[in-house]
Amino acid sequence: MTGTGAVTERYELVIGLEVHVQLSTRTKLFCRCSTAFGAAPNAHTCPVCLGMPGALPVPNPEAVLLATRAALALGCEVQERSVFARKNYFYPDLPKGYQISQFELPLALRGRVTLASGASVGITRIHMEEDAGKSVHDKVPGKTAIDLNRAGVPLAEIVSEPDLRSGADAVAYLKWLRESLVFAGVSECSMEEGSLRVDANVSARLRGETAFRTRTEIKNLNSFAFAERAIALEFKRHCAMHDRGEPVVQQTMLYDQANDEVRPARSKEESHDYRYFPDPDLPPIDLTAAFIAAVRASMPESPTARRMRYTNTLGVPAPDADALTTDRALAEYFEAVVRAGADGRTAANWTLGEVQARRNEHPGAAVPVPAANLAALIALVAAGTVSNTAGKQVFATMWREGGVPKAIAERDGLIQVGDADALARWVDEVFAAHPDELARLKAGERKLVGVLVGQVMKRSGGKADPKKVNQMISERAGLG
Ligand code: ADP
Ligand code: MG
Ligand code: ZN
Repeated sequence: MTGTGAVTERYELVIGLEVHVQLSTRTKLFCRCSTAFGAAPNAHTCPVCLGMPGALPVPNPEAVLLATRAALALGCEVQERSVFARKNYFYPDLPKGYQISQFELPLALRGRVTLASGASVGITRIHMEEDAGKSVHDKVPGKTAIDLNRAGVPLAEIVSEPDLRSGADAVAYLKWLRESLVFAGVSECSMEEGSLRVDANVSARLRGETAFRTRTEIKNLNSFAFAERAIALEFKRHCAMHDRGEPVVQQTMLYDQANDEVRPARSKEESHDYRYFPDPDLPPIDLTAAFIAAVRASMPESPTARRMRYTNTLGVPAPDADALTTDRALAEYFEAVVRAGADGRTAANWTLGEVQARRNEHPGAAVPVPAANLAALIALVAAGTVSNTAGKQVFATMWREGGVPKAIAERDGLIQVGDADALARWVDEVFAAHPDELARLKAGERKLVGVLVGQVMKRSGGKADPKKVNQMISERAGLG
């Protein structure tokens, strides 16, 4: 009928995400080589991760623990038995000719999250696997070199159901996943450093259609913004093909950020016949119910639960609660300030303002001001003993030199003067020096209150309590 709307309006976008996160272990999944970044090529290798014949893999219990934490953080059911399987394919960065992964019996199944948009997204499975190495094209002129430092680094792969219906929801899901895993101490989830990698499966179907159509998979999206963009482009391409009656071919795509386009990857091994089978070198992972229960008991409160608590019981505005829970250290500092007696809203202001600004300058550094000292400073400001501005100065000093707020404020002459006699003396002086303004104020020109308060503040060297001065001037000018 209309025929004018964008084709994408008649189609529904369907997305399923496969996310790889690097588990924050010190050593690899099946050998004791270091997982540290930035070493010389192949410095962190041994017969096991080089795939030497006869070398035997030994599972890293820390990786199993972290993967279990990942599963619980994402609300999945941890399986008491899971099995490592060989995923067979040939690629230069895969020295064994297979990757150790999990297939039929993965570590965890069946998670679910409800996003802020209301969308409910299922997690199909979480399995453990080892990372591959890296082909290096710019080290040896005319040749491709291989760096196997990453080979064998432990990953958790998190596979979602095809439940996502918009790029925005895909990003919301990824953010939830990242904050949950970072809070649980599972992974750094840094897209820049490659410890969080996203593959997006995309298809399009007519609205109202029940079956899914053929999907394509966009590999290795390396930022949330690029993921959203690539998904939008791919959706448009699918819609146009459906409209022209052309079949969509299931294949692997790459997003080219320089040209802002999605195109087919040079196909690795399109066969997808990985001939999975249980790895005969590795026994099944058998987790006891007691182990799983103990890990569950050790889990921190999730960011989502924290946000609810901050807004519902601590009176923190929602945007502040969101900001606080992006970073577990920040959230915990904020909570310590509240425990030390500060009110939630004010503690959030200071944490997100003065504290966060300084932490941004020194990422990862601990906050040198004990939470109790910030709470004491907040109390001084609330009582009017120091002004808000002077309070910030005190905070800066505490950060630099340590010390308690009251003593610093006294030493640095930042105690606010609220004493009526002292204030009256300054007000008298200002009235005497500005008779015209005073007359106009008395005649009803209210905005002059501010001017005169400013003069008192100046005369007091910033120490007068501006609220009390304001009140006193208004009263004495007969403005009540
Ligand atoms: P494979 O085992 O070949 O990787 P899966 O069935 O496990 O395939 O699906 C991989 C990912 O693709 C999952 O995240 C899933 O949600 C998603 N997916 C499957 N079918 C579709 C579809 N038609 N459209 C979009 N995503 C899909
Ligand atoms: Mg897959
Ligand atoms: Zn090794």
